[in-house]
Amino acid sequence: MADSQASLIRVMALHALAYCERLFYLEEVEEIRVADHRVYAGRTLHEAEVDVDGEWQSVQLESETWGLKGKVDYVRYRDGGVVAFEHKRGRSCGDDAWESDRLQVIAYAALLEEHLGKPIKEGRVRYHANNKTVRVPISEDAFAKLKAAIARARELAATVQRPPVAENEKLCAKCSLAPVCLPEEERLLHAVDVDESAPPRLFPEDDERRIVHVTEEGSRVGKSGEQIVVTPRESTQGGGEPHKFPGRDVAAIVLHGPTQISSQAIHYAVAHNIGVHWLTGGGQYVAGLIPAGGVQRRHRQFEGLRDAQMCLSLAKRLAKAKVENQLKFLMRNSRGKDTEGIAAQAVKNMRAELRGVDRAPDIDTLRGHEGMAGKLYFSALPVLLDQSQELMRFTGRNRRPPEDPFNAALSFGYSLLYRDVMAAVICVGLDPAFGFFHTPRSAAYPLALDVMELFRVVLWDMPLVASVNRAQWKEEHFTRTQKQVWLSPDGRKQAIELYEKRKQENWKHPVLKYSLSYARAMELEVRLLEKEWSGSPGLFANMRIR
Ligand code: SF4
Repeated sequence: MADSQASLIRVMALHALAYCERLFYLEEVEEIRVADHRVYAGRTLHEAEVDVDGEWQSVQLESETWGLKGKVDYVRYRDGGVVAFEHKRGRSCGDDAWESDRLQVIAYAALLEEHLGKPIKEGRVRYHANNKTVRVPISEDAFAKLKAAIARARELAATVQRPPVAENEKLCAKCSLAPVCLPEEERLLHAVDVDESAPPRLFPEDDERRIVHVTEEGSRVGKSGEQIVVTPRESTQGGGEPHKFPGRDVAAIVLHGPTQISSQAIHYAVAHNIGVHWLTGGGQYVAGLIPAGGVQRRHRQFEGLRDAQMCLSLAKRLAKAKVENQLKFLMRNSRGKDTEGIAAQAVKNMRAELRGVDRAPDIDTLRGHEGMAGKLYFSALPVLLDQSQELMRFTGRNRRPPEDPFNAALSFGYSLLYRDVMAAVICVGLDPAFGFFHTPRSAAYPLALDVMELFRVVLWDMPLVASVNRAQWKEEHFTRTQKQVWLSPDGRKQAIELYEKRKQENWKHPVLKYSLSYARAMELEVRLLEKEWSGSPGLFANMRIR
């Protein structure tokens, strides 16, 4: 594509600009697009119109003079002249057109006028919800407005700062990007009076889409039409049937161990916002698809994380959240079991480390306190476990490789968590290589390691300990090789079930005051983290277990 073509502004981008400058910036500059039911409904409306009237054209127009490109869906001859028609599913603004719709038809008229070489006098917007057609005069004034909008669009595109949230809150309720923009959460930060009985809520409670784990060796993932197809090895030898999942219902595909995925399925996943992740058979994260783009978001991230004070402040909040969660879990679950006072002593010492976290003058001191608190936590964890479960006896944390079944299960669950946090980091468009607490000492991405600290206890330690105490783990769930212990295919299946079930449980955010699944909480925390360096700090790392 020639540079001049690449720099043409879409007419739909001007529509977004007139609606909300932040919406324009998120969609056009940061390239974030969310196709929700309203977008699909709009498409259906346009497609349905095609056959109704023969007096239309659908033509893609570009103008170097205007610096615009757009698709005029409906062009009709009315009252002796050419009229650009725009169809809208919603209602008109009283007897008038909405400002954004008005600008859109003016832009189409400008493109048409240049293309046909004769003046266009009028555009029309047809509102289907209240069955009204509004006429938009095409005048010098109208074109002056169009020029001003194009200039503003170019100005915004040249900055790395996101515009503020819209002053008119009603716009956000209908905005498809609200779950990404989080306007209500941002307003809450600056609010004087917050109505706690009616907490703001534009971030969806749950993601209905599923995560497809491919755990059977030799399975192949492909694509057929709009479906993701998982073919187990035995089916290629005349055995089991392939499993089919509608693409729109899949959030991510996770390939465990020696499994395959076709290029077509990868392309489909990228085009449909479906994550693809590769794990070793032992659960170690190998790789994930990172989409292109997000230049402005990464730029702000690098700028923010170059500030040592910001990193220290974020790391303190993160460490505090992690240690407080460990403390709560120990205290709540050791009642009546701590006959030797091991947990009580650990809790006392962890509280001292927590005070050290608060006072730490630098990040190395902070890491020392957080690390010591972690050691104390694991030293007391056996108190919470049913001692009759010999197989899952825990005598201390070890990994790479795990030396006993409990550590094998612990590591596997943390790998699943790491994958999910990585997916959230990628989905928000941050660079996982740049964190604020962990240093790049292994192949693991520091930012994902940072964020997962918030979720280790709640998403894996708690369900794992509960499953041990329910006697759910058996010898066949593990594979032993000399000093190493791994989860067997059955063990992996059980761990995935426990973890995925836990993710669907709901949790109420202590500051935002609304409930959401833990699965969504991961993405929410990453979005709140991004706000720390994007002008609205203060909401990240409030994650606490109840
Ligand atoms: S949610 Fe509100 S502030 Fe955010 S882009 Fe949409 S309209 Fe603008």
